[in-house]
Order: sequence, then C-alpha cells, then structure tokens
Amino acid sequence: MTTADTEDSIPLLATDEPAAFELFNVEGKGNAVLVCDHAANRVPRHLHKLGLDDVRLADHIAWDPGAAAVARQLAAHLDAPLVLSAYSRLVIDCNRPLHSPQSIAEKSAGVTVPGNLALSQNARQARIDAVFRPYHDAIERLLDRRGGQPTLFISVHSFTPVLDGEPRLWHIGISWYRDRRFAHLLFDELARSGDLIVGDNQPYPIEEVFDYTIPEHGARRGLPSVMIEIRQDGIRTEASVQAWAARLARACQRIEAAALATGRA
Ligand SMILES: [Zn+2]
Repeated sequence: MTTADTEDSIPLLATDEPAAFELFNVEGKGNAVLVCDHAANRVPRHLHKLGLDDVRLADHIAWDPGAAAVARQLAAHLDAPLVLSAYSRLVIDCNRPLHSPQSIAEKSAGVTVPGNLALSQNARQARIDAVFRPYHDAIERLLDRRGGQPTLFISVHSFTPVLDGEPRLWHIGISWYRDRRFAHLLFDELARSGDLIVGDNQPYPIEEVFDYTIPEHGARRGLPSVMIEIRQDGIRTEASVQAWAARLARACQRIEAAALATGRA
C-alpha cells in the first residue's frame, strides 16, 4: 500500500493524539486576540514523520521555534485569548491559502518532504479536515463570541536568522495587510527605543496569495491586525522569551491607552 492509499483509508488523527488546535486563556477579557499558526512541529503518527528525520522536524521548516512561548506569555500579559495550531506547517500550513503550492509543501527551504509528494485529493482533503479547518474554525468561533468588544488581532511568528546564506538583521518584523494603522503604531513603539532593528512589512509582507490568517480573520472583519515576526535567535531562552513578551505587551498597552484617551478604541 502506498502512503496515499493508507491516508485515504484511516483517520488522520488517532483518538489519543491532540486536537488540531490548543486554546490558551480562552476566557481572557483583554482587547486582543492572539493566534500562532506555526506553534508546533508535531506530525500525526499516521504520517510517519512525513519521511523526515528528527533534526529536520526540529528545524524552522517544520514550525516557528519560540513563537508559541512568546505568544502564551504575551496572551497572559494582555489577558488575551490565544489559539495555537497543534501540528507542523509541513502537515498543512495554516497560514497558506489552500490553493497555494505551499499549503502542503513538497519542498521547503530546499528540503524535499517525502510524505507530501504526489498526494491524492483524498489525502489532501484529510489534512484540511483534520488540521486546517478545525484550527480556523476555532479562531472564527472565538472572534464571533466577542460581539462588539474592541479587538486587536495579532498573529505571532518567528523567522530564521539566516536564509539562503544571507543573515537577516531585523530583530523583529511588524507586518500589515491593507490597514497599516495598528502596525505603524506598534512599529513606532518598538523602534523609538533605538536598540532594535524593526522591519516594516519585513522580512515578510502579508499578501493574499501567500497568507491566510490575517486576510481571512483580521482584514475580513475589519479588525486592526498585525503579524509579528521575531528573529529566532532572540527567543531561544526562557529569559529572552519573557523579555520579548513583556516588551510587546508594554507596546500594545501604550497603544491601547492612547486610543482610549483619544476615544478611538
Ligand atoms: Zn510562521
């Protein structure tokens, strides 16, 4: 039997495996909702590590190292609910539109992903149904429940310090899609300390052909939205994670306070 055949006939997630998403501080009362699309590098047992070894699966191609830890602490500071994806982006990338070739990547950063080659339509659909859909439905339900409460929609990612041999100098990137107001306030808050190189829509701009989460949940609802990308070598220790989360929380709180003072919240 081929991998595709087995995928067609057995449920993707076994009953003892985690759900597609994790909710953190779901009853949070703050004026932000956080999401972490690339929080985990877990692969359903049934997919046999997608044919990759543990070193590859620990690498940035499988997830955003450090992002989940920052997202949890930032959510705690802001008393914000947080939705985290529980499976690797190589199973299906929760921040790629389903029509994107990178949705279920056959190759990532030059590494072939054997378990993603020549997938049948059924195998592809199984990943959508088991991972992509439940994660985005959870975000949708959470946002629906907030009614008219002001909501800053924040997605937390991390990026590799070197890509294709090129070092990347930004400590953090603040990316926006169509409405840049919240992103520019956050950019200014972070940049004015003078000790950070902050990317404005860098290292990654948000584009509808590549990105799914902010256009689908933030922009479609008209929520002030940003994608935060932190360089991975800046969040490798517990202390540095705490420092970034506290710094981002202070910046968000100052923006919120300024908006309240001028009656714009
Ligand atoms: Zn990411």
